[in-house]
Amino acid sequence: MRQLLTLKVKNKFSKPYKNGYPLISKQSLINGNDLKEEGTLVKLVDEQNNFLGKGYYGNQNKGYGWIVSKDSNEEMDIPFFKRALQKAVNKRSDLMKAEDTTAFRLFNGEGDGIGGFTIEYFDGYLVINWYSKGIYSFSKEILEAIEGVINYKGIYEKKRFNTDGQYVEDDDFVKGERAPSPVIIKENGVNFAVHLNDGAMVGVFLDQREVRKTIRDKYAKGKTVLNTFSYTGAFSVYAALGGAVKTTSVDLAKRSLPKTTEQFNVNNIDEKTQSILVEEVFHYFKYAKKKNLKFDIVIMDPPSFARSKKVTFRAEKDYTSLVSDAIAITEKDGLIVASTNAATFGMDNFKGFIDQAFKENKVKYKIVEEFSLPSDFATIKEFKEGNYLKVLFIKRIG
Ligand code: SAH
Repeated sequence: MRQLLTLKVKNKFSKPYKNGYPLISKQSLINGNDLKEEGTLVKLVDEQNNFLGKGYYGNQNKGYGWIVSKDSNEEMDIPFFKRALQKAVNKRSDLMKAEDTTAFRLFNGEGDGIGGFTIEYFDGYLVINWYSKGIYSFSKEILEAIEGVINYKGIYEKKRFNTDGQYVEDDDFVKGERAPSPVIIKENGVNFAVHLNDGAMVGVFLDQREVRKTIRDKYAKGKTVLNTFSYTGAFSVYAALGGAVKTTSVDLAKRSLPKTTEQFNVNNIDEKTQSILVEEVFHYFKYAKKKNLKFDIVIMDPPSFARSKKVTFRAEKDYTSLVSDAIAITEKDGLIVASTNAATFGMDNFKGFIDQAFKENKVKYKIVEEFSLPSDFATIKEFKEGNYLKVLFIKRIG
């Protein structure tokens, strides 16, 4: 039997929990030091012993565990997980049926009722991300709960136990059939090669699906496109398929060259008609400015934090200067696609960074598209920081 520990919440912290905030923070607890073993069931009460919620202890970068129920009798057993999974599946019935899209997020942690793990679907193969040892201690029950609720060919897992969310190297295959490498998935009719057993990242970030589609369908035709922080070149592939004259992808990771080549090739695009550069983005911006290179569309989707040999980039501090760099090499009346996954600031602040950059450069602009997470990346209003994605399409005026 799992231990059930009662955690007392300091009065000044009890209100958010009462209102449905699901993430347990250490500083809110009077007896947080009693937590020893991850996976311990916890019952949160206020200083007057009023029940606040039930959940589990799991140490991860975001906090100390998650409240998963407002019912004091709830058990975290197989039926509990089955109910949550079934609800998540029902919510995504359109994506389940879609023929031109075969990859999406099937379970999104706290957005689907249970924080600490996610499940992604890649043409019948599931990839589970475990964000703490605590939630991983329920993996047997969760795997059992999947049976009969989700039809799958095989299951893979990524252990991201370290408190900084770092991936633990392992054979990620769990059960079922082993997937070919690559699995070719479809997204809005576009092919992507994904590798399910090749480290933490499989080759595509599914949260940008609608952004990619918009670039292809509404903006790319006849344009030159620069895709910075390009990873496997997903934006470039969509732009090329949308009729871009040429795409240039820039990423400093060596793997980005073969990976981007692969994504072009699985869509029958000869990579030699495009440009793929393994290079530091900040260095490339300087070079392009010096050579007076200009692009009709500049896409930027940097990590929220990145350190290379020469530069440290922090989205909340450095995004304005990144936009300035982009403005300098965007054609008149061109388009900048600015994206960030930083959970530390919201859309209003993001717009502020962009406004500041355009003002400093004395260039007028208009925001023509705005995106946050797509609906399969379910979020709840009680946990705003769960909706981390912010993407703006900004048109230069003149
Ligand atoms: N835009 C991508 C995802 C970006 S992930 C997509 O749509 O799929 C972030 C990428 O930024 C990683 O591939 C990483 O290698 C790259 N990166 C981080 N710092 C960089 C830098 N200073 N210069 C170039 N690339 C960088």
